[in-house]
Amino acid sequence: MLRKTKIVATVGPSIRTPDRIRELIRLGVNVFRLNMSHGDHKTHDENVKMIREAEAELKMPVAIMIDLSGPKIRVGEIADDRMEIHEGDIVTLTVENVVGKDGVIPISYKFLPEDVEPGDRILLADGSIELVVEKVEGKLIRCRARNSGVISSHKGVNVPSKPLSIPSLTEKDKLDVRFAVEHDVDWLALSFVRKPEDVRELKSLLEAFNSDIRVISKIEKAEAVRNIDAILRETDGVMVARGDLGVEIDLERVPIVQKMVLRKALKLGKPSIVATQMLLSMVESPRPTRAEVNDVANAVFEHADAVMLSEETAVGKYPMEVIKTMDRILRCAESEYYRAHNGLAIERPTNATVADAISHAACIMAADLKASCIVTPTHSGFTARMVSRFRPFQPIVALSPKKKVVRQLCLTHNVFPEEICEMESTDRMFSRASEILAECGYVKPGDTVIITAGVPLNMPGTTNLLKVHRVV
Ligand code: PGA
Ligand code: MN
Repeated sequence: MLRKTKIVATVGPSIRTPDRIRELIRLGVNVFRLNMSHGDHKTHDENVKMIREAEAELKMPVAIMIDLSGPKIRVGEIADDRMEIHEGDIVTLTVENVVGKDGVIPISYKFLPEDVEPGDRILLADGSIELVVEKVEGKLIRCRARNSGVISSHKGVNVPSKPLSIPSLTEKDKLDVRFAVEHDVDWLALSFVRKPEDVRELKSLLEAFNSDIRVISKIEKAEAVRNIDAILRETDGVMVARGDLGVEIDLERVPIVQKMVLRKALKLGKPSIVATQMLLSMVESPRPTRAEVNDVANAVFEHADAVMLSEETAVGKYPMEVIKTMDRILRCAESEYYRAHNGLAIERPTNATVADAISHAACIMAADLKASCIVTPTHSGFTARMVSRFRPFQPIVALSPKKKVVRQLCLTHNVFPEEICEMESTDRMFSRASEILAECGYVKPGDTVIITAGVPLNMPGTTNLLKVHRVV
């Protein structure tokens, strides 16, 4: 069986060689994430070239996702890259550009002193050190440490209790967007999305560049959780970014938010990614913990489109084993899911559109006729995503004349995108589709496939036909 859940791998020193990138694609990576919080443009330029060369050589489509830092506040330079903090200490945060020492820590966001007041919590390094604001004095914020710990340069700073006035796209983000456009990547992920306007701002910037890059909103703020429906309407996909989310909201609510976000994204047919610490122990160890295995399998049961690896592939000791392990857990969970469920994952939509009715019927027919796959010729990827959200057992082979769409669909659950040239007639499309199915090994003679189509041909948004096709 083909694996349905997609794998996103973050690029870093552990996998930055052409051989390793090629091997990772062979092992099943569908999307590479380039994290703009680490590495300069020259490094990322090399990354893009390496991935594209491997993709062309292997003739397997892979997507590139550029992850924008967004309004993330960071600690500045710390002397000797290490400062010990003890419970009860007075710690001073400053917005002056100084090297941190003797209990004074520089931070990157200039207006923080205006945004906080006594009693607010400020968390450093993924919440490992908790500070409480005692007094704001000009550019200084005097805090008391609630616990002991060690802080190093460039660690994250979270201020969960306050909506901050920091803009959603920083000047650095805008340069990174330009880089993404120039390198023709497929997805942009935006960190710390708070409201639908944040997504719209990024989309208008992309429109100004005349770009068809699509946007993933990273859900990692309490505000985003509150605005989830409006954000989902604007965005093309979501990531449950559990690293920051677990600091910004109570940790014990993360599983509940994950379930809720995945469910809503599924109904809309917008791809969802579960991210952070999925196989974290494999940074150091060749075997994951039992709890991690459970977490990955649960993402499948909760209908995530994709699961993501961060440190595991970027800086870990066992990047290849991580992908092999991920692949095995996903396949096993998927086969269990389909053994236990023979219905569709979401209800038939009420007030159905033609796209709703066609995608639903394609899944029902595929099940009734025990088809070997569902084929969706698609311009924008929409039809493939509409079919995917029902989570049919059959693989969905998406045929698109647009390379960008083929790559973007690498993120969508159970969709296997293939490039195809524009067709002059529906009959020609059907015969080309069956050639591709046979060439790529999706079918054998005697198999039944369900094909969606649109008349008139080559007009986006016209899917209005279903064909039952028998392979000869
Ligand atoms: P990050 O996002 O790795 O860019 O912080 C993911 C997360 O917060 O979980
Ligand atoms: Mn984050």
